[in-house]
Amino acid sequence: MKTRWIGSPSVNEKMVPARVADLLNEKLKEFWCGLRLLQVEERDSAIAEFKSTLRGLVDQWIDSGKTNQTVAGDTPAQRSITWRSPLYPKALFETLVKFWDRNSPRVIVELNGSWTLQVGPKPQSAASQDSLHMAGEFAIFEFARLLDSTSPERLYRCDGCGKYFVRERTPRKETPIYHGSFCEKCTDKGGARRTVDSRNRRTREMIGWAADAWAKWAPSRRYGTQSEWVAKQVTVKLPRGKSIKINWVTHHQPEIEAEVERREHATRKD
Ligand SMILES: [Zn+2]
Repeated sequence: MKTRWIGSPSVNEKMVPARVADLLNEKLKEFWCGLRLLQVEERDSAIAEFKSTLRGLVDQWIDSGKTNQTVAGDTPAQRSITWRSPLYPKALFETLVKFWDRNSPRVIVELNGSWTLQVGPKPQSAASQDSLHMAGEFAIFEFARLLDSTSPERLYRCDGCGKYFVRERTPRKETPIYHGSFCEKCTDKGGARRTVDSRNRRTREMIGWAADAWAKWAPSRRYGTQSEWVAKQVTVKLPRGKSIKINWVTHHQPEIEAEVERREHATRKD
């Protein structure tokens, strides 16, 4: 039996994470290969949809290994597709199951009686073609192939520049990366890296304080708005002369809520 991938090349399994990194870093121009049948005027928006969908899925998966970051750092081997957060309300598992429900693989019988398994987004007829929908389907398909490849955990997002990169070695279980994951370029910039490290550490600490305050806030006139009150509580902990404003709280709200949720979850388990 042969397998034919729809709109995605037959690359060596080991190369799949690097391919996804290249797609997200915009190094591959042919990434819309599955979308090449679209009208030219629809391509730009389809490509944008493809990229943002794929990035959302990959980021949710990468971030699922960072849920304990304040205590345990980034643990790629613990990435999970059942994880959800205020920022990612839908579990990846659900997205994948629904994708395969919509696009169950087809068996094509060849003229000599052999068969080929056709795997990927169901091609639409030209008349009913919805290019944005197809772009999203191709993105989920690339993500599904990534997770099915031999060592998807080698894919990282750089905490310095945001670029995606692949490590040669599969991360070891129970070995967290404490001070962020950095691409080669950012690692070379030692000074820049240390600054980012200490900034990340400080931000994480502040998010911890904000999460303490967040859970203690109550809706009453004495407290004021939640963001305002949390900003005040965090400011009290900062060195004299330093303060944070409400917009710091609103900017970090997803992380604060995730931390609150993580703590509630941790206490429930005890
Ligand atoms: Zn970088």
